[in-house]
Amino acid sequence: MFTTARKRTQITIETSRVLIVRRMRSSRTWCPECAREVDAVGLDEATSLTGMTQPALRECVEAGKWHFSEPSGGAPMICLDSLMKSMYAHSKSRMSKGDE
Ligand SMILES: [Zn+2]
Repeated sequence: MFTTARKRTQITIETSRVLIVRRMRSSRTWCPECAREVDAVGLDEATSLTGMTQPALRECVEAGKWHFSEPSGGAPMICLDSLMKSMYAHSKSRMSKGDE
């Protein structure tokens, strides 16, 4: 179906990347943190989205930056909402201060 809703093109690069991944391989998962159903991706997708390595991803999950759910009998999934927020915060802080 072609629902090309032309909203204002204020979509950030991060968001469009997420949309690509969402089209590719996301699934609906209940996120206890968001208390609703969210789009979630597996570790592989999260890796290609963020460009981070899997150990670094796990650290983020363990630090509670990202919402993580493990459906019974399924692969671990990361809540796309929390992933997007942390990516946005990351690129924003990188842009505002260049003292790294
Ligand atoms: Zn969530």
